[in-house]
Amino acid sequence: MAPIKPVAASLLVDRLQRPLRDLRISVTDRCNFRCTYCMPKEIFNKDYPYLARESLLSFEEITRLARLFHGLGVEKIRLTGGEPLMRKNIDALIEMLSHIEGLDLTLTTNGALLPKKAQALANAGLKRITVSLDSLDDSVFKAMNDVDFPVAKVIEGIDAAAQAGLLPIKINMVVKKGVNEQSILPMARFFKQRGEILRFIEYMDVGHTNGWRMDEVVSAREIIDIIHQEMPLEPIDPNYTGEVAQRWRYQDGSGEIGVIASVTQAFCKDCTRARISTEGKLYTCLFAHSGNDLRALLRNHATDEQVKTAIGHIWQARRDQYSEIRHKNTTPSPKIEMSYIGG
Ligand code: SAM
Ligand code: SF4
Ligand code: SF4
Repeated sequence: MAPIKPVAASLLVDRLQRPLRDLRISVTDRCNFRCTYCMPKEIFNKDYPYLARESLLSFEEITRLARLFHGLGVEKIRLTGGEPLMRKNIDALIEMLSHIEGLDLTLTTNGALLPKKAQALANAGLKRITVSLDSLDDSVFKAMNDVDFPVAKVIEGIDAAAQAGLLPIKINMVVKKGVNEQSILPMARFFKQRGEILRFIEYMDVGHTNGWRMDEVVSAREIIDIIHQEMPLEPIDPNYTGEVAQRWRYQDGSGEIGVIASVTQAFCKDCTRARISTEGKLYTCLFAHSGNDLRALLRNHATDEQVKTAIGHIWQARRDQYSEIRHKNTTPSPKIEMSYIGG
């Protein structure tokens, strides 16, 4: 095999000229919820083969990868899962990552453990956070999380995050037709008044356990129309190229919302995002069916330069644009579950 030349971060673009800017790291494949669209109970039960502890990347391995990715151009890292706050001593990992200068670090959580952990996360150096909440209606929310978890406890978590100064707080709501469309307006009114940024996410065909169907998707356009009729909106510019949420602000000046139209208005052409699974595989697309084993490199004593070179070559070979070609793709292929690859 010909020798592999090291890759300079400034030149690191994929086959479609997209730079590597964002990284999502899944720190656990476990969760205390069983959201029907993500980890349906029938499959994620006590017999499910969750990863063994020694398979997980250690905090040292995650921090080393984060540092190397940062050196290759990654500006933003999001910790996710599974439920990241279920990873033992997650605040210790935040503390280690917070020493990487110039890195924008954030985390997505279902909020259940925030009342207990928000202050420790802030003390460890976390600056901001995203909390998922799919409805303000207890019966709808409980049916979606499927573990009987009440809305009030998530709001308590959001309040705890605000109290700890984890600001700004963003709220993620997945919208599924016939399940929680009725919650769009109450959620918009509630977070408009509170000032947190609510982001509506189109229900996606991630993994293969949620039985996704196109007719269960409520499009971003429909969501905007529903809200606009009651609370007029106008579009605003993205904060940066590659931002996945389209931003809209209320015409009365009372804040903004976002819509993530990953199904109906694919944004692959600007996708600058890589993902590391709980056991250290690098995926260059949320819908990839295989990843590259970085953990093996780390555990086989590869040098920093060797790891960076490997990452660089994987990124340079990237051609993924699943959402752009979703509709043309007639042969379903096995995809990775979101709880493993990181949402
Ligand atoms: N457990 C954390 C949480 O729920 O925020 C972090 C992981 S979760 C996989 C990350 C995000 O992905 C959540 O906002 C969740 O609602 C969203 N998500 C999960 N499955 C999805 C799907 N099929 N379509 C769209 N969004 C999904
Ligand atoms: Fe857990 Fe988040 Fe998936 Fe819900 S969306 S099952 S909270 S990982
Ligand atoms: Fe990026 Fe893949 Fe999603 Fe397209 S489908 S936006 S390439 S993660």
